[in-house]
Amino acid sequence: MGVPSLACPCRVCHSSDPHDNRTRPSVLLSRDGHRVVIDTTPDFRFQALREKIDRLDAVVLTHPHADHILGFDDIRPFNLRQKSAMPVYASAETLAVLKRTFAYAFSDEPAVSTVPQVVLHVIDGPFELLGVRWQPVPAEHGEMKVLGFRVGGMAYLTDFSRVPPQSKLMLQELDDLIIDALRDEPHPMHQTVAQALALVSELRPRRAWFTHIAHDLPHQETNERLQREGYENVHLAYDGLSFEVRA
Ligand SMILES: [Zn+2]
Ligand SMILES: [Zn+2]
Ligand SMILES: [Zn+2]
Repeated sequence: MGVPSLACPCRVCHSSDPHDNRTRPSVLLSRDGHRVVIDTTPDFRFQALREKIDRLDAVVLTHPHADHILGFDDIRPFNLRQKSAMPVYASAETLAVLKRTFAYAFSDEPAVSTVPQVVLHVIDGPFELLGVRWQPVPAEHGEMKVLGFRVGGMAYLTDFSRVPPQSKLMLQELDDLIIDALRDEPHPMHQTVAQALALVSELRPRRAWFTHIAHDLPHQETNERLQREGYENVHLAYDGLSFEVRA
């Protein structure tokens, strides 16, 4: 829902620490002036303005929940500037929901105004973007199948409650593992902090970053707690966080 969450009186939603301001989860990978975004959240336009994104080469989607796709229409300015359709990579299931949700963009009727121009790519195995290999990493988000992605030394897995053993094999020897850690209270579709820490202990990445964080977790306090519990290499991610990734 983002933090602050609408109409919430809690102390995290009213925190003065900018790290407690959380737009919906998304990451951008850049290489040699080219950029790929994973998920177009309802905050996509704001995030792209904030990060001064003046070019976008592809969109990759993890799953079709509203908080991951509803900013999709805002790829139009990139269509116009770049004079090209946007490549969109996702599972067949995710593309089916995208087509239903943004039916006007996939209609055969002539559009009176601009609509997103896209070229769809069904992910059914590793693919290449930014000149590097993208390994899809299947996971389970409650009953829903979702995709995480490993790119070089980094893996991004938002929104999941379980990583099957086959996928864990794809997550060895990582520099940076970015994973779902919603809150402490159990949730049927997301990991808790304790479950996320157990996964970090199992996969032993050099660093781990928690994402998809609800308003239950104050940024600084939670980071201090992780340090106290001996997880020096684990931190809550935050809006605007940026680091180099080994290709
Ligand atoms: Zn709140
Ligand atoms: Zn989701
Ligand atoms: Zn989500």
